[in-house]
Amino acid sequence: MNVNRALPPPWSSVGDRLRERGLRWTPQRRTVIEVLAACDGHITGADLVERCRSRDMSTIPSTVYRTLDVLEELGLVRHGHDANGREEFHVLPAQEHGHLHCSRCGATWEIGEARAWAVAEALRAADGFEIDIGHVTLVGRCQDCADGVADLPPGSTRD
Ligand SMILES: [Zn+2]
Ligand SMILES: [Zn+2]
Ligand SMILES: [Zn+2]
Repeated sequence: MNVNRALPPPWSSVGDRLRERGLRWTPQRRTVIEVLAACDGHITGADLVERCRSRDMSTIPSTVYRTLDVLEELGLVRHGHDANGREEFHVLPAQEHGHLHCSRCGATWEIGEARAWAVAEALRAADGFEIDIGHVTLVGRCQDCADGVADLPPGSTRD
C-alpha cells in the first residue's frame, strides 16, 4: 500500500489544518481521514473506530474522537444524534436535512432541505425558536404505523 498517495480535496489540506490546531499529523490520523474520505456521508463514531481498526490495529478511540472534534471545528464533519442520542457524524455536510425515526417499526429516513426548513420555519414563526434540525432525530410514527395502530399486538406499549 502506498501511504503517500494523495487525498482528494478538501482532505488534501487537512494535515496542515490539523497541525495549525496543534494536532500532529500521524499515520493514525491519516487513516481516520482516509476512512472519512471514503465514506458516503454518515458515519457513527463507533463505526469509524471499527473501520480505522480494520486498516490499522493500533488505532486508539480517543485519537479518533479528538480528530473528529477538530474536524468539526474546521467544518469538515458535523455531529448529530440518532434516536437514542448516539452521535452520528455528517461528513462534508453540504445540505441541511432532517432525520426521522419511527419508534414503532424502527425505520429511519431523511427529509430534504425544503421539508426540514418548513418544520424549522413553523417553530420559528410561532415561537421564535430556531431548531437545529440537522442536530436531532425527530422521533414519532411513520404513516404505515400510524394507520395500523389498531393492529398493535396485545401488550405493546404506545409511547
Ligand atoms: Zn449534539
Ligand atoms: Zn444526515
Ligand atoms: Zn413505522
